[in-house]
Amino acid sequence: MADASDRDPASALCAEFLSFSARDTASAWLAAPDLTAPLYAHLARLVPHLLREGQGAGLREEQREELGVQLLLLAPLEWLLLREEPSAALVALKEANRGSALCGHVFRVGEPTYSCRECAADPTCVLCMNCFLKSVHKDHRYRMTTSGGGGFCDCGDSEAWKQGPYCSSHLPKDQDQDQDQDPVQSLDPDLVYRAFQVFRTVLRYAVDMLTWDQENSLPPGLEPKEKGDTFYCMLFNDEVHTYEQVIYTLQKAVNCNQKEAVSFATTVDREGRTSVRFGDFQFCEQAKSVIVRNTGRQSKPLKVQVMHSSVVAHQVFALKTLGWLSQVISCSDGLRRVLCSVALESGSGGTLVDRLMLSDSKMWKGARSVYHQLLMNSLLMDPQYKKIFALHFAQNYERLQSDYVKDDHDREFSITDLSVQIFTVPSLARMLMLEQNLMSVIIRTFLDHLRHRDLQGRFQFDRYTAQQAFKFGRVQSLIGDLKYVLISRTADWSDELRVKFLDGFEAFLELLRCMQGMDAVVRQVGQHIEMEPEWEAAFTLQMKLTPITTMIQDWTRTDEHVLMEAYRRCLSALSQCLSGLADGEQPINLNLAGHMVETFRYQVSQDKVSIHLPLCRMLAGLHVLLSRTEVASRFPEQLPLGELSPPLLIELPLRCLVLCAQVHAGMWRRNGFSLINQIYYYHNVKCRVEMFDKDLIMLQVGASMMDPNHFLMIVLSRFELFHIFSSTDSRKRLRESNKDVLQQNNTLIEEMLHLIIMVIGERFVPGVGQVEPLEEVRREIIHQLCIRPMAHSELVKALPENGNKETGLERVIDSVAFFRKPGVTGRGMYELKPEWNKHFNLYFHHYSRADQSKAEEAQRKARSQFSSGSSSGSGPGSGPSPGSSPGSGPSSGPGSSSSCRPVLALVPPVPPPFCPLFASLVNLLQCDVLLSLESTVLQWASEPGSTGWTESMLQRVLHLMAMALIEEQQQLESNSEDEVTFNYSIKIQRPGSCGSLLALLETLHNAPHLELHKDMIGWILKMVSNIKTWRQRSVSGSSVSLSSAPDPEDRVRERDKAERKRKAEMARLRREKVMAQMSAAQKHFISENKELFHQSLEPDSAPSSSTGELHRCPDSPGAQVCVGPCRVGVASVSHVTCILCQEEQEVHAQGRAMVLSAFVQRSTVLSQNRQSSSSQSQSREVLFMNPEIALGIHTASCGHVMHATCWQRYFEAVQQKEQRRQQRLRGHTSFDVENGEFLCPLCECLSNTVIPLLPPATSPATSTGQSLETWMNTTNLQLVVLRHRQSAGEEGPRPGETQGARPGEKQAAVPLAPEGFDLDFVPESALCSCLSEMMSTFSLAVYKVALKTNPNETDPRLPPLSWSTCAFTIQATERLLFDDDKPLFGSLPCRQEECLSALCRFSSHCWTVAPPSTVQQHFTRLYSALFLDLDLQDVPCLLDIDMFHLLVYSVLSYSAVQALDQSGQSSTDSAHLHLLHLVTLAHLVQVLLSCSSTDPRTAESAMEQDGGGPEEHLTLQLYTLLHTHLDSALPPAASGWQLWHSVKDALLPFLRCAAMFFHYLHSTVPPADLLLSDRDQWEALCSYLSLPSNLLLLYSQQRSLLDPLIHRWCSDPRVRHRLNESGSRSDSGSGLVRFPRESNHLVDLPQDYSVLINQASSFTCPRSSGDQARAPTLCLVCGTLLCSQSYCCQTELDGDDLGACTFHALTCGAGAGLFFRVRECQVLFVAGKTKGCFYPPPYLDDYGETDQGLKRGNPLKLCMERYQKIQRLWRQHALAEVIAHAQEANQTLATIDWQHL
Ligand SMILES: [Zn+2]
Ligand SMILES: [Zn+2]
Ligand SMILES: [Zn+2]
Ligand SMILES: [Zn+2]
Ligand SMILES: [Zn+2]
Ligand SMILES: [Zn+2]
Ligand SMILES: [Zn+2]
Repeated sequence: MADASDRDPASALCAEFLSFSARDTASAWLAAPDLTAPLYAHLARLVPHLLREGQGAGLREEQREELGVQLLLLAPLEWLLLREEPSAALVALKEANRGSALCGHVFRVGEPTYSCRECAADPTCVLCMNCFLKSVHKDHRYRMTTSGGGGFCDCGDSEAWKQGPYCSSHLPKDQDQDQDQDPVQSLDPDLVYRAFQVFRTVLRYAVDMLTWDQENSLPPGLEPKEKGDTFYCMLFNDEVHTYEQVIYTLQKAVNCNQKEAVSFATTVDREGRTSVRFGDFQFCEQAKSVIVRNTGRQSKPLKVQVMHSSVVAHQVFALKTLGWLSQVISCSDGLRRVLCSVALESGSGGTLVDRLMLSDSKMWKGARSVYHQLLMNSLLMDPQYKKIFALHFAQNYERLQSDYVKDDHDREFSITDLSVQIFTVPSLARMLMLEQNLMSVIIRTFLDHLRHRDLQGRFQFDRYTAQQAFKFGRVQSLIGDLKYVLISRTADWSDELRVKFLDGFEAFLELLRCMQGMDAVVRQVGQHIEMEPEWEAAFTLQMKLTPITTMIQDWTRTDEHVLMEAYRRCLSALSQCLSGLADGEQPINLNLAGHMVETFRYQVSQDKVSIHLPLCRMLAGLHVLLSRTEVASRFPEQLPLGELSPPLLIELPLRCLVLCAQVHAGMWRRNGFSLINQIYYYHNVKCRVEMFDKDLIMLQVGASMMDPNHFLMIVLSRFELFHIFSSTDSRKRLRESNKDVLQQNNTLIEEMLHLIIMVIGERFVPGVGQVEPLEEVRREIIHQLCIRPMAHSELVKALPENGNKETGLERVIDSVAFFRKPGVTGRGMYELKPEWNKHFNLYFHHYSRADQSKAEEAQRKARSQFSSGSSSGSGPGSGPSPGSSPGSGPSSGPGSSSSCRPVLALVPPVPPPFCPLFASLVNLLQCDVLLSLESTVLQWASEPGSTGWTESMLQRVLHLMAMALIEEQQQLESNSEDEVTFNYSIKIQRPGSCGSLLALLETLHNAPHLELHKDMIGWILKMVSNIKTWRQRSVSGSSVSLSSAPDPEDRVRERDKAERKRKAEMARLRREKVMAQMSAAQKHFISENKELFHQSLEPDSAPSSSTGELHRCPDSPGAQVCVGPCRVGVASVSHVTCILCQEEQEVHAQGRAMVLSAFVQRSTVLSQNRQSSSSQSQSREVLFMNPEIALGIHTASCGHVMHATCWQRYFEAVQQKEQRRQQRLRGHTSFDVENGEFLCPLCECLSNTVIPLLPPATSPATSTGQSLETWMNTTNLQLVVLRHRQSAGEEGPRPGETQGARPGEKQAAVPLAPEGFDLDFVPESALCSCLSEMMSTFSLAVYKVALKTNPNETDPRLPPLSWSTCAFTIQATERLLFDDDKPLFGSLPCRQEECLSALCRFSSHCWTVAPPSTVQQHFTRLYSALFLDLDLQDVPCLLDIDMFHLLVYSVLSYSAVQALDQSGQSSTDSAHLHLLHLVTLAHLVQVLLSCSSTDPRTAESAMEQDGGGPEEHLTLQLYTLLHTHLDSALPPAASGWQLWHSVKDALLPFLRCAAMFFHYLHSTVPPADLLLSDRDQWEALCSYLSLPSNLLLLYSQQRSLLDPLIHRWCSDPRVRHRLNESGSRSDSGSGLVRFPRESNHLVDLPQDYSVLINQASSFTCPRSSGDQARAPTLCLVCGTLLCSQSYCCQTELDGDDLGACTFHALTCGAGAGLFFRVRECQVLFVAGKTKGCFYPPPYLDDYGETDQGLKRGNPLKLCMERYQKIQRLWRQHALAEVIAHAQEANQTLATIDWQHL
């Protein structure tokens, strides 16, 4: 029985469906005392039959299953719950619902999310796009990112937003209603009762099943009665094995093909598990063992379970019930609360939610995400239960984290990821901190997981196993949780919170203690280290903890009590760590400059030293905070200082700084890169806030509490420089020693002096100096901009990242910098305003040495420019001339100095004053030890050429002296003189052992070897004397004081004003001068080129000599005409220079052949029908181009000319080189030699062939012009003869017989040839063999590209293909000029001119290299397409021919027929004109046939204009004629005015192309009107083409001749068919091209980038059902969205797997593609299968920067100019060239796998 139903479940179920009533079943269940028993029985019976996972379940099977679940299983539950028709009842519930204010939209992968930089409580607060657009934040400064999936919209959460928490659609409906009212109260109590019952039973069932771990049995009550031997072999996902491994294994284990295996692998990756086999136990067990064996060799095997089908079915149904619950509660807040309450009811084994969470890591991915979703929809949406859930979550926190660390799934699939939803809510975080001691719990859990310690209890990452490293990676997520908890700090502290926070702080100190001193290093001497020690783990930890440390300090700052207590605890933790330091070794005594101090016996260069000192740094941070408190300023004695002696405090940071100095000095070279990297990160912006910066502060802290002399002596001693400065002898000894050691010492001295400068000068941290936080940022920005102008993103990178606090950059930047907008490339730049230059400090602590020297150079340059620009000589910061006013003294600012020469000295800026706690630091500047150092260095500097000192050393000493003088001046300014204790200027005048410092300086002032420092020394001397005068004056009691001097600010302002005025005047003068120069130059140019101007303005003067007298020129005789017997030809001889051998050469038919390098490619740029470009295969018709122009051949050239022989030699060399190269490494180059590609030897432009240069056409023959009738008759006759000869193979008729057939008459007998027509005549080629060879080279290259086949020299399609590239290139160029509003002639760059003219001349000679009969046949067919009277069946109808192509082909092929005419009667030129007239007429008819005359745009205006000029009458007449021929197929005629105007518009492109063609063919100078960009050039154009401006005259003047022709065109049945076809269908896709053809444009992109992101986020892969595409990519040409860079969408072509983009490019762009990678915000160009490059996107942020890879998240807006530039590249066919250039410039691009994109 069971077997039967297993085999055919469908029929069994059918019966079930028929007899089942959900309502009755529900009633029965309701009557039962306990719901569980009847429900379970029902499920046990039905679930195993209804649900069978996978196993070839088709779509229908899935639908049937869905239906069964709904009708048989869920419907009774709904009836039971609602007691009425479920769908109606649910709607009613929804309407009664008050509506949640929370949006709660759960994000898809790739969906855009928005956060407001101004209002978000923290960066994790985000809005969905719908809410964002309806919120106030859209006008704020916001940040956009793409979601990684999971997480939900925070709209409506008032805690998440400082303002505007609701968008307009989530605004609470009625504000007055009590928000806290229980939504359950508003429900029917009966319903509530039933809901409790149903939810409780269903949820328990689901939890039981999802946490069920038996493979072959079910919970009590669910066991089926009959249990068949049906099992699944279930494969589980892990993050260890790769896609490829899984695919390979499955093919082996379950015998499936590649495709099935890929599908299994995809499902298992998405769902977390999939059944790979269904059958009896044995069968499944066997597959399991193969999989386990195959994957278990290197790693943990893949998890596989053999599960009974009923177990799997119940699990699947359990998931469906969770989805059902989600759906039901979404209708009612009350029901949601009931479910929450059920979920958190305590039962055996904890609440249901607890049970789910605790088995989270055991569940498969799919199950996890379903129940996580339910949690988000229920518990997290209910404000009351969110709190209770948060408590449960926190209680289980340790356990959940441990499970997560052991698990191998990504965090986003773990329940622990919910922490971001809970901990970031400030009120919840506070509550959990108080009730669960969350902060300590997190830190201690973290510590628990990192157990690998050394003997001192420090973390030890060296010799870490891969397993431990993996675990370390996962444990780091705990730090993220800690960050969430700390993000929103509190202002109102309760006693309890203080206790809990300090408890957490204590735990944090414990963590820091484990880091203090880790990864210590010892200097390697002699040998290089053998193995680079591990350093990254420690720095990863440091980087992760940096923001935490900063946040903890921020917390303590808000409460003085907490701060003091934290300081105390930190101090005691540190003293424990330092206790061992002073032990053991005997201290040593140091004596210098009459001072004595005791210190450790320790040397950085010999003993252990560590960079990791987080405890010291924490203390330094807290100390600065203390210094900002009120206690510090009022009762400093109450501060918890003491305990540690200052020398002990500075010891470790000082060692670390000395280590850096020694590394700089090259003393640690043997310690390898690991150390270099550590030093790098120590200073790097990511770490420095909590490393280098704090070490510097710690030195400031220590020094402020010590005797400055003692501090400096200890510093000297740690730098191992003490002996050098303590005795002159040792310095001498040293100088005689090793050069390396000397250099080392010099560097160390420089570093030490720099350190002293920083300790005294760095006062921009609030608390150290009296500054505001913004001043710190401003200084940072100023110093970055002093290096060079920078883009916004560069500035952001230079500032430390602070996720939840803005750096303040935006507020500061505009005050200190100008913004320079970006052009079409590049980015916007900020440039420092010059007035901020005076804040430049050369020894800015965040400068690297490289930055420093760049900034110094830039500053010197700026200052010298600035001062040389001003004749008065007052540079920035320089005061008025000394003595000019009595007020000038030291008060005139630090810059006051002699102004005879510009001030170039980089004087230190005036620093802000210190805070009281640090005030004593200034004494370092005037202490005896420093004075002694200064005097020593100055003495050394007096010896020119000595290697014992360096200029940097001197520069630093001078800087220190300047700082001291500025300090003294500041003190004198703000205090009365007797209070001023700072008297550096007096001290340096005291005589020392070798004279006073001042005397030394005076001798150095004029020393020739110190020219560079002359300015600075001069400035110092001036300053000293100023101060001296000031002191004397104030002693003498004169009342000169600062107040009498003008306020320095005022003076600066005045000076600036004057300066601006002067500059404006200068600029005006300059402008005038330039204008005068320009007009002079212009006059000169015109007089020089008089002839040229004359010529081009009076074109009729030139041709008179060559024009024949025998024909009349229509319309205006003497006009510039480019076609026909009256054409004007300038057959000048041109000379060109070969770029390879530099020889000049005349272009001549017989001379050495010259060639132009060229690039030929297929193009769909003009295509009117992209679908058909791919369908055209190799056998396609090449003689007739369809008006759709689906595929053209474009030729471009860089215009560089070579000898053919020179080029051949060059190309062979390239080939050989490439062959050799490819043997070594088979990488792609930017060009593909095998396909004939090379780079132009001069400009490296991508090329794949060469065009031969030919002499221009000869001047028109002086023969008579034939009338149209004569010509038609003759030609007809000629063609008939030719055709007869070709088809019969008979001998041609004798020449001389002129009588013959009328056109259209069939010749049964041998036709008679016209007079002089010699069929046997073989035209002699006028070209030398070398030119002919080049001509076939080019023809074959075009052939190869066009047909993608191997070249075949005898193929008759060769000539038409060459003509086609000529015609197409002209058409493409014409469109570009037209759309750019550029004049038809004279606006093209030289290289394009050359290319077009070479192409036309080449094409005109093309027939000479092909067999004459081939070309004659071509002409015959072309001709018959016009006349339709030669019985050729294989010509297309009038509507299917592009007329310009027809014109070009027929003109070019006519020469082959004409050559046979030896009569001397006919003229090629008049034939060209007739052809032009006929084709124009044909086009006119074509236009009239295809124009839709019911165009509403013009219909209205037409009414008023009716009855106009002759054109309109004639047009209407012609149209009426056409209408009579075709009647119903053609709509009735509209007005003549309207017709004529649409005809004019439609014909314009054709005429323009024709003008270009004949211009380049005949080198006729164009009339002046066509050199202007005015669009109305109809007259000029017609006259240039020798056409009447009323084109209808072409027809009406020759009606008798042309009427039969028109009749024939119209009576072609295909014409009628095409018209009917297009009439019945809509305009688009009808296949009938309308004229003028629309120019192709790239697809429109939305203004706001996020719109695009949003569109792409809902795009799913077209091949795998419902899967989100990982790399959605937009084709910019046709707008198709593709699933790029993914397995699923690869297509095989010629044995290669092509990615979606590459494949699409082949069809859409004939190989060239341009795409927009939406998620990366990047443009992608591809050419062919293997080449590509990325191009900057057309989206810019407010700062004029692109954001490739979307890393910064600034709002991005479409930049039209950039998009147009990309469009132009495409329309100019420049993509391949851009790619080649990019690949040439960046070799790494060649390694990217373009093929699979
Ligand atoms: Zn939303
Ligand atoms: Zn909203
Ligand atoms: Zn906002
Ligand atoms: Zn040459
Ligand atoms: Zn070139
Ligand atoms: Zn496309
Ligand atoms: Zn795909």
